[in-house]
Formats: sequence, C-alpha cells, structure tokens
Amino acid sequence: MHNRLLTLLLLAVTVTVSVHAQSVSAKAREIHDSAIVIDTHADTPQRFLDENYDIGSTDPGDHGHISLDKAKAGNLGAEFFSIWVEPETNRGHFARHTLDLIDSVYEQAARHPDRMTMAFSADDIERAHREHKLAALLGIEGGHSLENDIHLLRDYYRLGVRYMTLSWSNTNEFADSSGDIDDPKVEHHNGLTEGGKQIVREMNRLGMLVDISHVADKTFWDAIAITKAPLIASHSSARGLTNHPRNMTDDMLRAVAKNGGVVQVNFYSAFVDETYRKAAEAQRKDREAAIEAYTDQLKVAGKTVTYIDRDRIEREWAAKIPRPPLSSLIDHIDHIAKVAGVDHVGLGSDFDGVSGATPEGIDSAADLPKITQALLDRGHSGENIRKILGGNLLRVFREAERVSREMQAAVSAR
Ligand SMILES: [Zn+2]
Repeated sequence: MHNRLLTLLLLAVTVTVSVHAQSVSAKAREIHDSAIVIDTHADTPQRFLDENYDIGSTDPGDHGHISLDKAKAGNLGAEFFSIWVEPETNRGHFARHTLDLIDSVYEQAARHPDRMTMAFSADDIERAHREHKLAALLGIEGGHSLENDIHLLRDYYRLGVRYMTLSWSNTNEFADSSGDIDDPKVEHHNGLTEGGKQIVREMNRLGMLVDISHVADKTFWDAIAITKAPLIASHSSARGLTNHPRNMTDDMLRAVAKNGGVVQVNFYSAFVDETYRKAAEAQRKDREAAIEAYTDQLKVAGKTVTYIDRDRIEREWAAKIPRPPLSSLIDHIDHIAKVAGVDHVGLGSDFDGVSGATPEGIDSAADLPKITQALLDRGHSGENIRKILGGNLLRVFREAERVSREMQAAVSAR
C-alpha cells in the first residue's frame, strides 16, 4: 500500500515537472523575445520545390516545422534555408537543382514581402529584425553542388549563398564525408584535397561561411587548419554525449572555440539521444530496405522517388521509437557551452529535415521559447541565452565579413 502510494506520488511529481518543462514563464518569454533568434539549418526548400508548399500556410494539420506563423510564434528572426541537392537522383545536374532550390526561397520571400525578406549579411539580419520580418538566408549543403568548378562557388555567392557545407553525407571531388568514410567503394582523399583547400580560402575571401557539418574528421582538421575566418558547424551535436560520427568530439569543440567559430546544435533525436540513436541504428537495415523497395516500385512505374516520399516512409519508422525528452537536446547545448564555452554554441535545428524526429515538445519553430525556458531552468543568464539563440552566430558572421574585406583589400592594394 505504502509502495503504491509512493509510486503514485512520484508519478504526480514527474508529471508536474514535465508539464512545467513544457510551459514558458513570463521571464523566459521576455528573454526569448529580446533576442535575435537565428537558426542555421532548415530543409524547408525541399518542400517549396517538391510539394509546392507555401511558407504562409496556416493549415493546422500541416506537420512542417517552419511557416511564417510558426516562426512568429517562436520569435525566429533568421533562418538559413538549406540548399541540399540529393546526390543520387540529381546525378548529372547538381548545379541546376541547386539553382532551382535557391529560386524557391526567393519566390517565397517575393510572395510574402511584408513578413519575410532575403538577407545576405549580419546587418541584413538586424534590419529584418527591426522590420519584424523573417530574414531568409541561403546555405548550400554539400560541395557536390559546385560540380568541381570554383567559378560556380562565386556565382552562388553572388546569388546570396552565405555558407557552404564542405560535404553532405557523400564524399565529393574535394572533401571526405563522415557519411561514407567507411565505405571501401568510395574513393577518399584523406580529408581535403589541394583543390578543397583552395575552395576554403576562396570562401574566406568571398565572405561565405565555411561549414564543417557532415564532413569526415580529417576534413574538419584540414579545414580548421587553413581557414582564415571563424567557421561554423551549421547543424552538428556533441559526440561526447551521443556517439554518432556526424557529431563533434570534445577536441573538435575546443578547436572551434580556439578558431572563434560556433557549433549550432542539431535537434535530430538520433544526434542528441544515445538511446534513440541505438534504436534508430537497430532499425536502419529494415528502414532502408523499405525505402529501396518503394523506389524500385516507382521505377517500374517510370517515376523517381521524391524527398516527400522518402520523408513519409522515414516518419513511419521514426514513429516506432519513443521520442527523447527535451532535456537530451539541452544536454548537448550545455555540454558544448562547457567544453567550448558559451560563446561557441547556437541552434541549427535541421527543421523539416529529420522526418519529425525531434525531442518531445519541439514540434516546430513555435516551440523555440521552450529551449530558452530550459536553459533558464539550468541557470544560464539572459545574456548567455541571447548569445546561444543568435548572438554568437551574428558575431561569427560579422568576423567572416571582416576577414573577407581584409583579404579583398590586400589583393586590390597589390
Ligand atoms: Zn544535414
């Protein structure tokens, strides 16, 4: 009897605590709303292009993470939209698909000029914030978009691209990826090639942020050794807590701190929770077989599998694993703040790129204030929380802009 009562009491306490963790106090709301909140990775352009999704959507049944309403509710000030070209289905026309995705973001901004604006600099982000508009920025996810042509890098910069992830999950012509580093069928380079190093330097000169999310460990060390500007991990978490090769080791975190850069924590459940990661890994073979079977089925019908198809199947599999608590995500922010310092951590959600597999309570950009509440609960000051929410990224962006001006001035003075 006593034991049952104790259990009930414990249960009541647990429920109260978790309900409390989900609600946002006036103080947390005030801190959150006083910040310029910047997220450095959302895959929503896949939806713009494949699904004809409109960011102005008010559909309450829409499962997407990003809409203008959701951004407003979560005080999201700036989003780096990911320009990600799936490397299998787009073989032979990476650049064209890159351009199509870039266009899809501009078209959304053109449809909603009163609520969304393209942004190309740290000043632009601040301007958009003053105008109460969502700042839309562009980041290319994967160097294969260059088609091994440095001229395209400059063209992408001119079109407004402000970061490039040196590789996605696929090793490309100049950078090894963590995604296939153990695949003997893939030709690797032992990190960055000489051409890859040239690309990093050209990115520095242009003022395009060098992004090391997804890259193989050696690529990371090569990039950080030669970059003249602080670099970013646009959407990466900590390997010390969740043992995924996509995550960053403590040594890497310390190196980013020394470089003055910032690690933007990825919200994907398999990157922030070890239990979830193991469960997802255990079902990987079956999940991939299901996607392959569906792809073959479409092939017979003369169609190719889209991002949306894939996403739907991934969602079905993700639903079989319990979502991790929000505290798992906060643990990663805390860990990076401890190892690298509070000046070197931020948010890189991977919204709309993880088939809904985010921690409990984080269902869209509207839930971002819950992160502020959780950080406040763990004793972070308002000032530090504002750095994490966007201040750090703004600092790094400004510094990369300064390095770019300096490098260009040095050339023109010659
Ligand atoms: Zn990614």
